[in-house]
Amino acid sequence: MSSSPLPATLLPDTAVLTENDTLVGGVSLRDIAAQFGTPAFVYDEATLRDRLTQAAATFDDGVAFASKSFLCGAMARLVHEAGMCIDVATGGEFDIVVRAGVPANRIIMHGNNKSHEELQRAVSLGVHRLIVDNFNEIERLRSIVSPRQPLDVLVRVTPGVEAHTHEFIMTGHEDTKFGLSVATGDARRAIDLLSAIPGISVKGVHAHIGSQILDFEGFRQELDVLVNFTKDDNFEELCVGGGLGVAYVEGEEAPSISEWGSALRAAALDVGMNPATKITAEPGRAIVAQAGLTLYTVGAVKPVTQRTYVAVDGGMSDNPRPVLYGSGYEAFDVTRPLEPRPQSVRIVGKHCETGDILVDEAFLPAETGVGSIIATPVTGAYGYSMASNYNRVPRPPVIFVKDGVAREVLRRETFDDLARLEM
Ligand SMILES: *Cc1c(COP(=O)(O)O)cnc(C)c1O
Repeated sequence: MSSSPLPATLLPDTAVLTENDTLVGGVSLRDIAAQFGTPAFVYDEATLRDRLTQAAATFDDGVAFASKSFLCGAMARLVHEAGMCIDVATGGEFDIVVRAGVPANRIIMHGNNKSHEELQRAVSLGVHRLIVDNFNEIERLRSIVSPRQPLDVLVRVTPGVEAHTHEFIMTGHEDTKFGLSVATGDARRAIDLLSAIPGISVKGVHAHIGSQILDFEGFRQELDVLVNFTKDDNFEELCVGGGLGVAYVEGEEAPSISEWGSALRAAALDVGMNPATKITAEPGRAIVAQAGLTLYTVGAVKPVTQRTYVAVDGGMSDNPRPVLYGSGYEAFDVTRPLEPRPQSVRIVGKHCETGDILVDEAFLPAETGVGSIIATPVTGAYGYSMASNYNRVPRPPVIFVKDGVAREVLRRETFDDLARLEM
């Protein structure tokens, strides 16, 4: 398809392309590869900050970054400094955020199977909101919450909306493990039960219809359901969840966070929402995806009858999305970012699986081969956070770049790290 150079719109905001290098945050990607080795995740702090402040400015207070898309202490602190809350879905995510120094009253606790311990910790530290998912959780909360240890909640509802996205990341329809159905009356019963528990205050409802959504129709339908469902409740907040998509490959276009926010508010007012009601959201991907990229070194090039395989030093352990969802990515040679890309290849990893594909059909410059440093852009979301040690491959480091300085915020795992659980 494409033999033109990689469109710069897929790179972090500060990217500068030269004849023989690519700079991000004022730092040479060639130098990062030399200093920290490959594979490595590189994040542009300026892009992260821009998306975070955009979200904080667009939505009402309580808008949260969905930490499952990418989390480490440095990221949690950036989110907090930019004025956003942080959403966590497990005790582990909660712990990383608390250790990073984020106050509990800026944390939102999610999860469809929160343990007694997870609930206990969230309530005793005093989270901003807890999102209630099911009736068993309500019974657990009954034994933990009291007027001396109160809790503000949103009730997660399934609005019955089908977003246009991959089936595995579609969550707003009825046949799902998440939330309580508006249609069957479960959501209403949950609100009534919760309202009767001393110490619990129901602040509103929450829904999340899916991920990587590029058009607003599903969100409009979601708001229609949420606004109508709560029109007599006088709740202070409606949370529409996350899901705003990003452009991954040439030719794709995605709305900005501000455009998304304005469209949501307009849609809510259109269907009669009280203008005093707060609209909040929980973007993950739209904050971190474009800020990040992954550097690899090419180790083997193998022409077969049908195509050429280019094998790199990472793979499905640092980016499982192509395997899980069939997601498409682009690739480029960081030392030749302005050159045309006439070589059509399949980029694969080093794992023992035929399906270990990073880019099914990638385009690379003619000279790119063994030893070249290549990168896949737009890997900031659900790459590191879904990374595994499959085949006992150590996880790559995470490098933040800003104003000409590269800062390692998570170091590369070592073989000692891999052995540390052995008894
Ligand atoms: C995954 C998730 C998000 C974030 O989704 P993105 O598509 O990354 O924006 C937000 N809220 C909930 C409840 C989620 O499960």
